[in-house]
Amino acid sequence: MCGIVAAVAECNIVSVLLEGLHRLEYRGYDSAGLALLNDSGLQRVRAAGRVAELAVQAAGATGKTGIAHTRWATHGVPSERNAHPHVSDGLAVVHNGIIENHEALRAQLTAQGYAFVSDTDTEVVAHLIASELKKNADFFSATRAAIAQLQGAYALAVLCEAEPDKIIVAREGSPLLLGVAV
Ligand code: GLU
Repeated sequence: MCGIVAAVAECNIVSVLLEGLHRLEYRGYDSAGLALLNDSGLQRVRAAGRVAELAVQAAGATGKTGIAHTRWATHGVPSERNAHPHVSDGLAVVHNGIIENHEALRAQLTAQGYAFVSDTDTEVVAHLIASELKKNADFFSATRAAIAQLQGAYALAVLCEAEPDKIIVAREGSPLLLGVAV
């Protein structure tokens, strides 16, 4: 389990996300990534190495809503493909912890037609929220319905193109700290 930083602001949030990840580096990690919402929609940047490498890849990226992650792999090798955020239908998820029932959820979502592109337990969370959104739920209700199906320990942050001024976070057995800056 490693680290999550997420923020909604009135200015470009990329430097805040990178600084937050930098401060979490002491915990150890194998890869890093971030997702942003900007005028072009959802943008994702990931790197299999250090936060410094992610910063190079993210040069010039902008967004006022963003989520970022350093990963300590539990399911799937350390690689860019397995690095968070994981995405599905305009939403992105970062996760610390382990989804214990990921195999059953993966089978259920595969049967619904979702294609998995990583080996992580986390990717089920992205597709599960997307599948709940298709039931006409709003972003919050869909995320809540998806989280109710998860077993395990998690801290999660989720963003969604359809509701760009919002980040939804959730925790179970993993710590998560919320702050407001004025
Ligand atoms: N279980 C997730 C993965 O392997 C999250 C690991 C973490 O806490 O960084 O991708």
